[in-house]
Amino acid sequence: MGEVLDNLLERYAERVATRRVVIEPGAVSRLGALLKSHFDEPRKFLVLADANTWDAAGRAVASALEAEKLPFQTLILEPRRGQAKLHPDERLVEQTAERLRETGALGLAVGAGTINDVTKAASFNLDRPYAVVATAPSMNGWTSAIAAVVVNGLKMTLSSRAPVLVVGDLDILARAPERMVGAGFADLTAKWVAAGDWRLADRLVGSGYDPEVEEISKAAIELLDGWEEGVAERRPEALERLMEALCISGLSMAVAGSSAHISGAEHLFSHYIDMMLPEVSERELHGRQVGIGTLCSAALYEQLLRWSPDDLDIEACIASRPPWEMRRKAIERHFGHLASVVIGQVTAIPTEGPKLRARLERLVSLWPELREELAEAVAPRALIEEKLRKAGAPTHYGELGLDGRQAVEILEWAGDIRNRYTILHLAAEIGRLQWWARDAIGRFGQK
Ligand SMILES: [Zn+2]
Repeated sequence: MGEVLDNLLERYAERVATRRVVIEPGAVSRLGALLKSHFDEPRKFLVLADANTWDAAGRAVASALEAEKLPFQTLILEPRRGQAKLHPDERLVEQTAERLRETGALGLAVGAGTINDVTKAASFNLDRPYAVVATAPSMNGWTSAIAAVVVNGLKMTLSSRAPVLVVGDLDILARAPERMVGAGFADLTAKWVAAGDWRLADRLVGSGYDPEVEEISKAAIELLDGWEEGVAERRPEALERLMEALCISGLSMAVAGSSAHISGAEHLFSHYIDMMLPEVSERELHGRQVGIGTLCSAALYEQLLRWSPDDLDIEACIASRPPWEMRRKAIERHFGHLASVVIGQVTAIPTEGPKLRARLERLVSLWPELREELAEAVAPRALIEEKLRKAGAPTHYGELGLDGRQAVEILEWAGDIRNRYTILHLAAEIGRLQWWARDAIGRFGQK
């Protein structure tokens, strides 16, 4: 194990900041030595954790640093008053950056998504390297050069720099809550549909496609083929594969300089929940939300693959778009205080008559070829559902505490929160979004 990842780290050494990923039982006991070999003097660290991750691994990390006589301080991050969950927002990034600045220390994140993102963003702002000790294989951001941070209430993916060292101690990862393990697996399944959005966006808005990046993200997901039950049972080899796959997936983002190939409409589904349904996201996990988004997206793709441009009346599509002023008012009503950030994203994809006409004409002329590409890139909904179920991830929106009306609403509005073209945008432009969204949600729970 580990060769695929090690080879990639070597091959892309010039393009990625990560020098080493260690995934093995008892890895934390080697932490001191690893830090010494990957960081220059003076080596002072700021251990960042929250109450849960401190319990999971913080103490073991502190002992490992003491054993090697590495000086460190600790910062336990706390949720905002009245919130149960820690959110990676600008307040935490600033708080972390301030402590790093004061102490002159390097960040040593002990945690999963939130702690890693906060430490990554704060370290990047100060132009300092950092390291992370993973407490749960719950998402693929370990080795990515992007930090997901909530800015003005909107989850943004900020350019950043990956950690120099990632330590995944299998003894610690095996104790991670079951739902976090399922979440990590589900975050990876996004690739099965996001690859379709990536092709679509490249063909219709020219946003770029890179077969090399596609190969890397494929290598990640292939590592888990047939290991779904092992993941649910948290068997050591399955967790090792999961953690390696998550790191390869993150690395593919660092190589691409973007997350477009593994983050499309299914991630917008999750980001929309974080933004607009805090009562859901407060008790949920990114990956679990993404898994349900992936099933929705796969259902939308099944509709698109059955669709034919013979049914398309381009002039009618253009004529039926509401005038911008009306649309702006609708966005203001729906998104309230978040409307101005949303409007900034919406206006970044031009939809005025001539631009939309050109895009739809392109869709028609490319369709036979594009349809084939999409059919190859996107996995069938039933297959994804089976994998998610076996891996212990949710397969029904009700498991997130959403009702059908909310789920449809998410699909109808999520395209507006980001300027990345996806099937949600295309479906809206060809006048099918409302119908396809209802159909996609109606298919949950059906045999
Ligand atoms: Zn994700």
